[in-house]
Amino acid sequence: MKVPFVDLYAQYQSIKHEIDNAISSVIRDTAFIGGKYVEEFENNYAQKYGFKYFLGVGNGTDAIFIALKALGIGPGDEVITVCNTWISTAETISLTGATPVFVDIEPDYYNINADLIEEKITDRTKAIIPVHLYGQPANIEKVVEIARKHNLYVIEDCAQAHFATFNDKFVGTFGDIATFSFYPGKNLGAYGDAGGIGTNDEDLYLKMKMFARHGALKKHHHLIEGINSRLDGLQAAILNVKLKYIQDWNRKRYEKAMFYNDLLKDVQEIVTPQVRPNAFHIFHVYEVRAQMRDELMEFLKKNDIAVAIHYPKILPLQPAYSRLNHKPEDFPVGSAYQSQILSLPMYPELTEEHIQYVVQKIKEFYGYNS
Ligand SMILES: *Cc1c(COP(=O)(O)O)cnc(C)c1O
Repeated sequence: MKVPFVDLYAQYQSIKHEIDNAISSVIRDTAFIGGKYVEEFENNYAQKYGFKYFLGVGNGTDAIFIALKALGIGPGDEVITVCNTWISTAETISLTGATPVFVDIEPDYYNINADLIEEKITDRTKAIIPVHLYGQPANIEKVVEIARKHNLYVIEDCAQAHFATFNDKFVGTFGDIATFSFYPGKNLGAYGDAGGIGTNDEDLYLKMKMFARHGALKKHHHLIEGINSRLDGLQAAILNVKLKYIQDWNRKRYEKAMFYNDLLKDVQEIVTPQVRPNAFHIFHVYEVRAQMRDELMEFLKKNDIAVAIHYPKILPLQPAYSRLNHKPEDFPVGSAYQSQILSLPMYPELTEEHIQYVVQKIKEFYGYNS
């Protein structure tokens, strides 16, 4: 048996007719940039998510950069974020001229440890960017409470967590701005690069739109210099189709994760993911901690099981942040976990047979006789 890490073709086949129709409609209408498909997706996403405003942009990295710029963050400012995330979260802070300030992760849920945020706040701190990593909601109420107390903005990086919930509210609706990626492998993925930004604040929405549209809300009327970051018509039409299915696909991922958890419960060498109380974890990634991780990874690969690591090195220890002079001891949990974490195959179309095979091979590796 062969188990891929994700299977985007299987998902396409399940909705092929609708997707093919959507693509031909965009071409027929030559609605490649702007136009009705983009508007339709922005409106549908805003409505389904409960945002007053939603702006399609080029990708999830742009989304964070645009949000930071709209908040007026720049040179001399500090923005607090988490040490274990995709680099977009931190590099966009640096791109504005501000400095990323990293916080360690929680031992159980792998997200920003809210108890360690206040000690990092200085008079230069302007915002906090929590990430809902792996599809698991961060301790977002606590983060927002700290931010309000210190007059800081909160940008929620929801790139891995579309429609995940905490206390029955979607992640992204707690802070000031929510950013999304629709990169193909994300839970809601386009067929190329795409991203989006949600907010309930009209002023912020207009600032973000203006910045993403060359500093102009009216054509040829440039109030500032901006960038070009657009969600294109083809991606919007594809996302419009997929939006109908995303919550169903999220539930399927959750069920697969629970099935893995159950089958792995007697394997002492593996720590399975825990779901935060009152959270709906949408399992963008099914992350375990494993003894002899590198050897296990080789063994699984040899048995045609694709695995990955999210992420092999926490950001403060990457060469790109050597200027901050961090040591592993500055982030004891994140740096200890980077040699243990392992992402197993996870996608809505994954079958029980696939999962049983993966677990069988894990047990074989550790010498269990099943
Ligand atoms: C994917 C991702 C991004 C960036 O999204 P792109 O669309 O690839 O630019 C940002 N943050 C996190 C946590 C991500 O996983």
